[in-house]
Amino acid sequence: MAFRALQALWILTIFERLLVGWANKHFQKVFGNHGWNYKSVGNHGIGVRILVIQSMPRGPYQRVAPDQNSSDSQQCKILLVRETQIMSALILDGTKIAQEIRGEVAAEVKAMAAAGVRPGLAVVLVGHNPASEIYVRGKVKACEEVGLYSEKHTPLESATTAELLALIGDLNQRDEIDGILVQLPLPSQVDSKKVLLAVDPAKDVDGFHPMNVGFLSTQRPGLVPCTSAGVIEILKRSNIPIAGREAVVVGRSDIVGKPAAMLLLNANATVTVCHSKTHDLAGVCRRADILVAAIGRAGMITRDFVKPGATVIDVGMNTVTDPAEFQKFFAGNAKREETFRKKGSTLIGDVHPEVAEVAGALTPVPGGVGPLTIAMLMFNTLKAAKMRRGSQIPELTKA
Ligand code: NAP
Repeated sequence: MAFRALQALWILTIFERLLVGWANKHFQKVFGNHGWNYKSVGNHGIGVRILVIQSMPRGPYQRVAPDQNSSDSQQCKILLVRETQIMSALILDGTKIAQEIRGEVAAEVKAMAAAGVRPGLAVVLVGHNPASEIYVRGKVKACEEVGLYSEKHTPLESATTAELLALIGDLNQRDEIDGILVQLPLPSQVDSKKVLLAVDPAKDVDGFHPMNVGFLSTQRPGLVPCTSAGVIEILKRSNIPIAGREAVVVGRSDIVGKPAAMLLLNANATVTVCHSKTHDLAGVCRRADILVAAIGRAGMITRDFVKPGATVIDVGMNTVTDPAEFQKFFAGNAKREETFRKKGSTLIGDVHPEVAEVAGALTPVPGGVGPLTIAMLMFNTLKAAKMRRGSQIPELTKA
């Protein structure tokens, strides 16, 4: 009888160990998937007793641990230990990554120039849109910095579609021009689609031509829209895995959302594209390991949209001028307050600043995706120059 009881106890102990081993592995996997560290702190008695989460995911997802000494309970118990402070996301420095890319482009341009070819970009700026003027100035300056040839064409605000088509036709013919960029928006009397369609696809450094859109979706070499290409560069150069991850892109514009989704798909992510008619947007976004916001609505993506530990790429660029709106987003942020006082405005993305408390990694605004757009334009001009001459296309990403 005593022997049988001992035997039963022995079997029970083995069973318990197996159970604990299985549970540990299981919880390790489950919590690991959420970016939590986990360790078992013992198994006293029957069943899995205490599992302590060493550190909670970044963000406010804290649960106070019940009494850690109450290990007598017969139930499986998970104790979540309160973090002493809310951690903030890793900030992905777009300025630094853009600088890196520009350096690589400059080196290639130098090598081409030494071989007698200086790649060139023509920028067409119609009229006097102040924002467009600033963008174009930045693009021309960037060309100088990386050694590209550039020229600016400034037709009058009253330019007609026919006049612009003639200009594009001329630029298409000139061999020393490798890239043509038509700064948008064009004045309302101009048929923008017709003008963009007239750009030689081989010189379409914006990547908007249907031919390049087709190349992207069929994974053929072509010119890819700069901002979306920049999103991928940030991910790759920050060693954020894409393949096999859930990626959600909010926004389906031809210039950002759709190409970003296509690039993520080409990089083997499982991609969902959201828009203004998406039901339960927050719920869909919360599935994302990689969340790309390209909406054009200041701070719309709040913490409720973000899975703890997710990577959040904020493409949005919105100007806030209303002090009440400013306070809503940046109250207590001394640096921002000073800028706002001086300039009367500040730039904010589509992602609310509070997301930094939940996300694992986040691009700032400014200084995130923005600088990549110009860097990728430089890269596209170099790429166009090489493709037009049948040279090997520069391999940009380190991945
Ligand atoms: P867009 O053409 O206006 O497209 C906005 C997209 O967001 C649309 O697909 C729209 O859905 C969707 N959307 C709008 N409101 C929404 C809501 N409440 N819920 C869900 N989806 C919503 O804008 P875009 O040209 O793609 O630009 C997006 C943002 O990126 C802007 O802030 C822009 O300034 C910025 N941007 C930045 C750079 C850069 O260099 N950093 C470059 C380009 C653009 P529908 O299709 O259903 O209307």
